[in-house]
Amino acid sequence: MQRLSGKVALITGGNSGIGLATAQAFAAEGARVAIVGRRQDAVDAALAHLGPDAMGFVGDVADLSMHERLIEAVKNRFGAIDIYMANAGTAILEPSAAVTVDNFDLQFAINTRAVFFGVTRALPLMRDKGSIILTSSIAGTKVMDNHAVYAGSKAAVEAFARSWALELKARGIRVNVLSPGPVDTPILAKLGISDDVRPAFDKEMAAAIPLGRMGRPDELAKAALFLASDDSMYVTGVNLKVDGGISLT
Ligand code: NAP
Repeated sequence: MQRLSGKVALITGGNSGIGLATAQAFAAEGARVAIVGRRQDAVDAALAHLGPDAMGFVGDVADLSMHERLIEAVKNRFGAIDIYMANAGTAILEPSAAVTVDNFDLQFAINTRAVFFGVTRALPLMRDKGSIILTSSIAGTKVMDNHAVYAGSKAAVEAFARSWALELKARGIRVNVLSPGPVDTPILAKLGISDDVRPAFDKEMAAAIPLGRMGRPDELAKAALFLASDDSMYVTGVNLKVDGGISLT
């Protein structure tokens, strides 16, 4: 029996990295999956991996009207949502003194405000006993250089999850956080870690992470699958850190 048979999952940032690996894992377990990303080519490429039952939507999560169009499109295609994974995210890592208002607002618009209004717009279409997963980061709880704004944008999401876990208990909707440590995804290149510095970066990560290496997107997808499925039916309000132990350091 597939673990997500008959379920519908909506994943923001589902065209890349952790979101794409999760979309693949959910589809492999029988879910019909809708993914959202900004880049049409990446959404199309992801759909090729997800099969004919998947749906792609191109949009910017920072644009709050996009969420209404998205939910309408998912309603028309699938009728309801069982699993909502707010995963789209961005990071601009710099010392606080260098942070501009624009960079502050951008991170909070994508990482925080879009999560709040994405979930609240989706809730009317969510079936009772559903699962909401918010992708945070170990930066939400662990202090790291140059992470102040990103950390704040993710810590807020962890607070939303705790509030929603109680607010939604009557509907049986569980709300949990998935906090990755360093994971090898396209976000690294977006952060300016180019191919030529990768060997040195990987070595630094291997030394810093207790399990001796960065995580892989499929390892985060397995944790998301746990939170999405009935395997975690007695779990709500937790922050699941999948980080090779780096939070302990
Ligand atoms: P990724 O491969 O860069 O994926 C990020 C995803 O978010 C992409 O699909 C991207 O779509 C989407 N996205 C970003 N801004 C968006 C916007 N305004 N509107 C719509 N979609 C948007 O990186 P990832 O590592 O998988 O990141 C997934 C989540 O994990 C993020 O929330 C990130 O903060 C978190 N995280 C990652 C790590 C790590 O080390 N990788 C560690 C801790 C937390 P486009 O590609 O189309 O722009």
